[in-house]
Amino acid sequence: MTQPDDEIAAIRDGVRALCARFPGAYWRAKDRERAYPAEFVQALTESGYLGCLIPEEFGGSGLGIAAAAAILGEIHQSGGNGGACHAQMYIMGTLLRHGSAAQKSAYLPQIAVGSLRLQAFGVTEPGAGTDTTAIRTTAELRGDHYIVNGQKIWTSRAEYSDLMLLLARTTPREQVAKRTEGLSVFLVDMRAARGHGLTVRPIRTMLNHATTEVFFDDLAIPAANLVGEAGRGFRYILDGMNAERILIAAEAVGDARWFIEKAASYAKERIVFDRAIGQNQGVQFPIARSYAATEAADLMVQRAAALYDRGAPAGKEANMAKLLAADASWQAADMCLQTHGGFGFAEDFDIERKFRETRLFQVAPISTNLILSYLAEHVLGLPRSY
Ligand SMILES: Cc1cc2nc3c(=O)[nH]c(=O)nc-3n(C[C@H](O)[C@H](O)[C@H](O)COP(=O)(O)OP(=O)(O)OC[C@H]3O[C@@H](n4cnc5c(N)ncnc54)[C@H](O)[C@@H]3O)c2cc1C
Repeated sequence: MTQPDDEIAAIRDGVRALCARFPGAYWRAKDRERAYPAEFVQALTESGYLGCLIPEEFGGSGLGIAAAAAILGEIHQSGGNGGACHAQMYIMGTLLRHGSAAQKSAYLPQIAVGSLRLQAFGVTEPGAGTDTTAIRTTAELRGDHYIVNGQKIWTSRAEYSDLMLLLARTTPREQVAKRTEGLSVFLVDMRAARGHGLTVRPIRTMLNHATTEVFFDDLAIPAANLVGEAGRGFRYILDGMNAERILIAAEAVGDARWFIEKAASYAKERIVFDRAIGQNQGVQFPIARSYAATEAADLMVQRAAALYDRGAPAGKEANMAKLLAADASWQAADMCLQTHGGFGFAEDFDIERKFRETRLFQVAPISTNLILSYLAEHVLGLPRSY
């Protein structure tokens, strides 16, 4: 599914108009209070943008990743943050591709109207971040239920989600031929689980991201909530990770454009030594360099999204898009702060907030080093390093 350019432009216009209702002061207050931007998420749901990937037969708009990338990119370019709700978009692929007909009809229509929130993605554990196959959370089949034990960390939005897509080991690592085998994906209904084997504890971080740690203590989940086949979960999650990387890259491009716009405007207005600071090439060039890096990264995001939407392999491009966009946004953040001098540090300018927010992309959902190692080994055929 490929969206024509004019449709993407119309989506961007619509999202920009929606975001204008949530200016910097809104995000600043949420950031200061570490509060969830519920009003923004509600508005995004009601407008239909959040359900853009849900097929029309289930009440969504049936668009592709390129459209989702435009939506999230525009939110970030407008000074907001899609982190409060973007997970539904990248989890969606796993449910659409591998979920059963019963799961889709039970959940998707409710997700589309916002009465059910699918926002939590439980993969990372204290002892297994980058090395996903080392996870130790287990799900053991007993009768018609799986019994889940273990712990997840950095499970963002768990307090504001009704469902969690969970990766757990169903066959011990020692009993499988390849460590990528024996992992399974489940849809956990957190409403039923809280207080019955599921405990969620918030973690305060340098950005307002509603992230948590989650504990499973003999949590029983119906066997019907297994997504796809048992033991094949790693493959399903990998599919979703490409979508996630493309969407996060789009957010990073949005951030970079926001920083560039802010810096360019300020450099034209700020007078020092009787002239605009932007008249100095020492100030101009970093802005121009950031602009070039950002637009190049955006081309890779678009290419990755187009491949993904055509169903073609997109791993290489999704990873490169994430790498280039995260670097472009961090470069732009640093440049924007520097261009603003001392004012860049003042909360009211939003720069220090966006600076903290965009730094995350160097680490999550995958760190820069790991993308480089993927490209080196899997694309360029260099020797395996770990
Ligand atoms: C705010 C926030 C929100 C998050 N939300 C979620 C979420 O919703 N769901 C979820 O499942 N996870 C989430 N994560 C987790 C995130 O995906 C991980 O933090 C990320 O994958 C990195 O894993 P790690 O933190 O365990 O780092 P580690 O794997 O411990 O790595 C630490 C550092 O070492 C480097 N490194 C490790 N191995 C190598 C190597 N072989 N070669 C070179 N360098 C290496 C890494 O690049 C990294 O810089 C979130 C994290 C944060 C901070």
